[in-house]
Amino acid sequence: MKQQILTSDECPFGCNSSESALHLAVLCPRSALIFQYLGLDVSNVQDMRDLFTDGKVVIAPNKKNVWVVVLVAILWNIWLARNRKVFDDRNIPHIVVARQCTETLKLWSSRLKKNERQAADQWIED
Ligand SMILES: [Zn+2]
Repeated sequence: MKQQILTSDECPFGCNSSESALHLAVLCPRSALIFQYLGLDVSNVQDMRDLFTDGKVVIAPNKKNVWVVVLVAILWNIWLARNRKVFDDRNIPHIVVARQCTETLKLWSSRLKKNERQAADQWIED
């Protein structure tokens, strides 16, 4: 809307909410479904910083050291799916977006340190 591509700040997924970063990331029912499908409870998240801090999202200790990488992979795919909806009017199902998060993490894990790669593999496996 700021760049005058859209005429309204409404969420493109039709949930009748204003689209903010927090809404797109976790508050939109569609994003919540993606996190839920990935086994992550984001219901306690009140702002974007909460997502990045320990305790707001329950994470197994053996997977914590790559949480930020996993989170960015999820947010990146939510963003890509949002743009497909906005620019191509294509609705990518939440299950497909969740699978794309896994594929992104697989791709990115090759650039991680060994101990981080092991944690990323655990995320992918689970
Ligand atoms: Zn929404």
